[in-house]
Amino acid sequence: MEDKMLEQTLEQTLTRLRETVRQAMRVPHYRESFAGAGIESAEDIKSLADFQMIPVTQKEDLRQNYPMGLFAEPLENIVRIQASSGTTGKMTVVGYTANDIEMWSAAVADALRRGGVTPRDIVQVGYGYGLFTGGLGLHYGSEKLGALTIPLSGGNTERHIMFLRDLKSTVLACTPSYALHIASTAASMGLGPEDFHLRVGVFGAEPWTEAMRAEIQQRLGLENALDIYGLSEIMGPGVAMECAHKNGLHLAPPFYPEILDEKGIILPLGSQGELVLTSLGKEAFPSVRYRTKDLTTLSYGRCACGFCGWSMTRMAGRVDDMLIIRGVNVFPSQIEEAILSVEGLEPHYLIVVDRRGALDYLEVHVEVSAEAVDAISHLEELQETLQQRIYRILGLGVRVRLVEPMSLPRSEGKAVRVKDLRTKDK
Ligand code: ZN
Repeated sequence: MEDKMLEQTLEQTLTRLRETVRQAMRVPHYRESFAGAGIESAEDIKSLADFQMIPVTQKEDLRQNYPMGLFAEPLENIVRIQASSGTTGKMTVVGYTANDIEMWSAAVADALRRGGVTPRDIVQVGYGYGLFTGGLGLHYGSEKLGALTIPLSGGNTERHIMFLRDLKSTVLACTPSYALHIASTAASMGLGPEDFHLRVGVFGAEPWTEAMRAEIQQRLGLENALDIYGLSEIMGPGVAMECAHKNGLHLAPPFYPEILDEKGIILPLGSQGELVLTSLGKEAFPSVRYRTKDLTTLSYGRCACGFCGWSMTRMAGRVDDMLIIRGVNVFPSQIEEAILSVEGLEPHYLIVVDRRGALDYLEVHVEVSAEAVDAISHLEELQETLQQRIYRILGLGVRVRLVEPMSLPRSEGKAVRVKDLRTKDK
């Protein structure tokens, strides 16, 4: 039955993919890249296999066409831009027509609804407002749903705590690391989950683990801390989100997903690889086989929440974040898992990679919890335990350095987890 559904979906998707190709052909960059694959018009796409001949789009293509070279609509039809600053070089600027904003808001509203958010909820938005898509994306979706929406943005943690108590917010949307920061700050003020009224957490913009979920739920008294996924280069938050059943992240209908291996070969459903997305129906900034660099696994089917379509597992990490240390593949999420399994440590950490002679080495700086820091005799044991746990997960010897509570930098956007000093001498 699911095979039949998938077949029908693919049939309908093909028609919509043709529309995307037609819209993208208004852009010289895409016309050229399609022509290279022998595609002169949308009608040349007769099957999914034809579509898969189209070269992928990369972040680099976005940069090279800065600022508005990939816009497929004249400026008079564009009502908003958002932008993201890459860690290297130029920003990427993305445009939206009024229909695009409507589509985005509807995708976020649907995702929130499936996550158990209703018009009776009070949604406190802690993502940054501005060029970053997080704040406005969540905001428009939450308003569309009909929920009372508080545009707090990030940065003023004490005000967040004040509003959580005084306005009795029931939903908190921010990065998972900021949610933890709110919880720790509240704890230092003598406040705990019983002082809040939170029910649902909408956390994204950085990869996080199941262990982190349990930690945040417990500390903030949430029923469900849910993962939301999105990229500014594609739309913003709401490209996919978990529902209250936590059966993976449901992909919003205006997107068609593919999973590629490192050589760019398409992998079957159920294999882990890089997520590649094509937008369906987006006007100002159509995405055509965009390489997200995020690693996940796809499935297709119906969920108890009523959703029917593609779902993906929580991001295993980013292609860029994978560190190769003495031949071993290391994801920051694996280190996070180890940290969360040790009592007395906080999930605030920084992974420092450097090279001594020809040998790479990895150091994990991790904060000790305020309660554990007083027991000096205990610290050595904590350090040793974490080193062993990491060794068990990675098969790699690392050095653990314990640091004071609240001493590592906090971020309102994506947390910086890795400092790779090896790239300096390249
Ligand atoms: Zn569901």
